[in-house]
Amino acid sequence: MADDLGRRWLFADQLGPHFLDQLRQPVLLVESRNAFARRRFHRQKAHLVLSALRHRAVELGRQARFVQADTYTAALAQIDEPLTVCGPTTHAAQRFVERQESVTVLPARGFVTSRADFANWAANRGRRRLLLEDFYRDVRVRREILMDGTTPAGGRWNFDHDNRQPPPRGSSRLGAPDPWWPEEDEIDVQVRDDLDRWERDDSVGFVGSDGPRRFAVTRSEALSALQHFVEHRLPVFGAHEDAMLAGDDWMAHSLLSAPLNLGLLDPLEVVEAAEESYRSGHAPIAAVEGFVRQIIGWRDWTWHLYWHFDQEYRTRNALNARRHVPDWFQDLDAEGNVQARCLSESLRGVRENGWAHHIQRLMILGNYALQRGWRPDQVTDWFHRSFVDGYDWVMVTNVVGMSQHADGGLLATKPYAAGGAYINKMSDYCGSCPYDPKVRVGPDACPFSAGYWWFLSRNAERLRDNHRLARPLKQLETLEGIEEVVLQEHDRGSEAP
Ligand code: SF4
Repeated sequence: MADDLGRRWLFADQLGPHFLDQLRQPVLLVESRNAFARRRFHRQKAHLVLSALRHRAVELGRQARFVQADTYTAALAQIDEPLTVCGPTTHAAQRFVERQESVTVLPARGFVTSRADFANWAANRGRRRLLLEDFYRDVRVRREILMDGTTPAGGRWNFDHDNRQPPPRGSSRLGAPDPWWPEEDEIDVQVRDDLDRWERDDSVGFVGSDGPRRFAVTRSEALSALQHFVEHRLPVFGAHEDAMLAGDDWMAHSLLSAPLNLGLLDPLEVVEAAEESYRSGHAPIAAVEGFVRQIIGWRDWTWHLYWHFDQEYRTRNALNARRHVPDWFQDLDAEGNVQARCLSESLRGVRENGWAHHIQRLMILGNYALQRGWRPDQVTDWFHRSFVDGYDWVMVTNVVGMSQHADGGLLATKPYAAGGAYINKMSDYCGSCPYDPKVRVGPDACPFSAGYWWFLSRNAERLRDNHRLARPLKQLETLEGIEEVVLQEHDRGSEAP
């Protein structure tokens, strides 16, 4: 009986059917305005979350109590029955639900592996590092994903080499079929009106532009987006997954991170759909492996590390990066002051879409923050607020560990710092940039190329024992004009380049 199951409180990132134990289970949905008032989120992120919540409330009808209140505490004060909730996705929310006497907290859902699975895997490693590649292979074996018996499908675990090709020469677009786009409805109109009103009465401030909704907010939309991706874009996803083109914001990426992180898709069904595409001969193994790696590798791994590390992890600052994230970056270059094309294009994408793909995030935006020595906690907060798919659990380990190397190398074996040569190879940005990726000193000096050496010079002592940096640190010792580079970049500091 549905009533025996109790009312299930669904957070706004637990909106899919797998967060219920029975189809007709009573539900509580809470929309808290204060959640958006505390920090400046991207306008499209607020729209996406509100639209998803309100669509779910309409879909569930009388099965759901939908409470719109200033705070979660105020919402819960209106509920006079016991609740159950699946483990929420942040430490703060976890503490909050555990404090509520009337709420029973169940294990978290929404990932391929459980917290217990990860704990067992980590415990069995002894003193060995928690490496993504090892975790990913373990999950593939245990869940029999892309496996032919005991052999990885296609004969290899890793197709990164095939999937790291530069963009096609002489083309401003990748040429992948267009992504699936949603059609807005009256709920989106109502959300837009509410957000306009909140902004007008000054109770909430946003960054980024309003724009057409680009991501799925219902289960049915999410399934359409998944099906469209697997049918039309997955076959061409792999080869250029690390490439960047100024004229192609979406390349062949799935755009499924937003509906996945709203809980609208079960990651296992996403992985199974991709594997089926390979098994039926529709998509090549390199593309499918690269995509599956994103889901059961990166996504699950990041989730588990968020809970595995202590809560002080988010405040780590191993490279002693103390500069504040500047306003032009916080505002997503709203005034158009950035001349460096890679940076201005990546910030434009975030401003217009609330989204940029993983290489823009890691090798342009995160790389620049790392080189400039911006505070990792502020960079983490920026990524969380500015991206439609950004949540605390996603960003803490990804930014502190992966992107900013602020954990001293617990997660990544070397800092993701790169100069203009990498960006020039993997994009078409440099051709029409006022800077030159080969120049380190003078008015044409590429801020990424010069910034790379400034970063290394500042941190040479701290990174001395990192064997993966042995070569560039050796080069640094005899680099022509390094004193000039350091002075120049110190002066450039955090100004818009
Ligand atoms: Fe970016 Fe430097 Fe290339 Fe300009 S020259 S696009 S700043 S990497």
